[in-house]
Amino acid sequence: MTLGMPVSTPPGTHASLERALAAVPRGLQIGGDERPAADTATMAVENPATARTLVEVANAGLEDALAAVDAAGSAQAAWAATSARGRAELLRHATTILLERQEQFALVMTAEMGKPLAEARGEVAYAAEFLRSFSEQAAHVSGSFGLSADGGTRMFVARRPVGPCLLITPWNFPLAMGARKIAPAIAAGCTVVFKPAPQTPLTALLLADVFASAGLPRGVLNVLPTSRAELVTEPMMTMGILRKLSFTGSTEVGKVLLGLAARTVMRTSMELGGNAPFIVFEDADLDVAVDAAMAAKMRNMGEACTAANRLYVHADRADEFTRRLAERMSALQVGDGLDPDTDVGPLIDRPSLDKVDRLVADAVERGATVVARGAVPAGPGYFCPPTVLTGVRADSAVIGTEIFGPIAPISSFVDEAEVIAAANATDWGLVAYVITENLQRALRVTESLEVGMVGINTGVVSNPSAPFGGVKQSGLGREGGAVGIDEYLEHQYAAVPR
Ligand code: NAP
Repeated sequence: MTLGMPVSTPPGTHASLERALAAVPRGLQIGGDERPAADTATMAVENPATARTLVEVANAGLEDALAAVDAAGSAQAAWAATSARGRAELLRHATTILLERQEQFALVMTAEMGKPLAEARGEVAYAAEFLRSFSEQAAHVSGSFGLSADGGTRMFVARRPVGPCLLITPWNFPLAMGARKIAPAIAAGCTVVFKPAPQTPLTALLLADVFASAGLPRGVLNVLPTSRAELVTEPMMTMGILRKLSFTGSTEVGKVLLGLAARTVMRTSMELGGNAPFIVFEDADLDVAVDAAMAAKMRNMGEACTAANRLYVHADRADEFTRRLAERMSALQVGDGLDPDTDVGPLIDRPSLDKVDRLVADAVERGATVVARGAVPAGPGYFCPPTVLTGVRADSAVIGTEIFGPIAPISSFVDEAEVIAAANATDWGLVAYVITENLQRALRVTESLEVGMVGINTGVVSNPSAPFGGVKQSGLGREGGAVGIDEYLEHQYAAVPR
């Protein structure tokens, strides 16, 4: 079969995927035009379940990148001058179109990224909610009027779009990470250059098509698939046109981009890596604990910045928790995400699979025990067995590294202060999970954790209504919620003497 479909894939899926792929634009989206790269370069998009090429798309080079920034710069003034109601209506229309195309997006996302179809459908709904939420906020951006403290000055404070934005996203949530940036930028009146990850350009190109179908004017959203990020980013960021960088990705790359942003004093939002502790206290309801651990660990095959990276379980409950988690992890079906029986898809690529294997080997060398290791299909897809480790030493690489795979390392603890210290012993501070039936303890521990988000008796914190983001080296700023639009607005104050 051409796209390497598993034998158990329902008969219609292959044809549906072919149709979905045929509808994806293959060119760069610059100034409202679809075009090949100026040097005609293309890049292959691989299906991680089959290690085969799905399609080729245009691969932007320097000339294209500069043209995209020019297009965003040229469109800025007119877009900022549109009415808030008009921008809100456009986003509302885009929400409807995106939801109408849910199945097409889900198929394309699963094929290029690997997540099971059910999770891909969920991501479409999640992404659509960002569009809807920012359509509602677009019309309600308010300023203020007041008098200075000494009574001598009238003060008018308006909120204005920050200007053309560069938005850079990773491959793990190819639709939601783009939607979470593009929607508030557009709502605020900013134009955009959007650089998706090279592994997942198809979802980004489809999203551009949704906005074009919704009537977004030419040049407001420019999409630049490229495998030449290092070559194009510095010149784009130092042209003096872009005013804002919003980046989601690794802390390592985030630091490089912060350095570049400093050159022209660009506003930045940084959604970086995580190393989430998942803490189960002795009074936990273990049904809740195991469900939450499965959600926090296994969403997106563990390839999530919010993934539970270190599981700390009170010594009195550790054996039972471990046994029950191992049972659930061992029962997961690993395979091609297009197969409806699949619970866990492949990892994104070979280096990711090799990295996760190395982390498991290192933990075992340092004394950890493998209590569950699921079965995986034979390659060439990048399938990784869901794994539970116990007795993991604090100096194991798996504790200090963002795993980005279906590995659950469990350590036990005895007292609250000890586990809080262990949870905070990291440079990252995105999210933590606390499982306890004691409300006072839940709130006390939450207040002691150095993180931007806490899941209390839940393994899921992501919610378009909430401010998403981290502290320490997990990032700067917040996405989503009522404050998400602030990242794309400046205050301007006018003083009028009385
Ligand atoms: P990554 O390697 O940092 O890449 C992220 C994006 O940055 C990709 O589009 C990448 O393109 C681009 N990039 C890399 N170097 C660049 C450069 N010099 N100039 C411009 N762009 C550059 O991260 P990843 O492996 O794709 O994603 C996983 C990471 O994202 C994890 O650390 C995860 O925690 C984090 N993440 C955070 C959140 C959050 O909200 N906090 C959400 C999701 C993921 P190339 O691949 O072409 O370099």
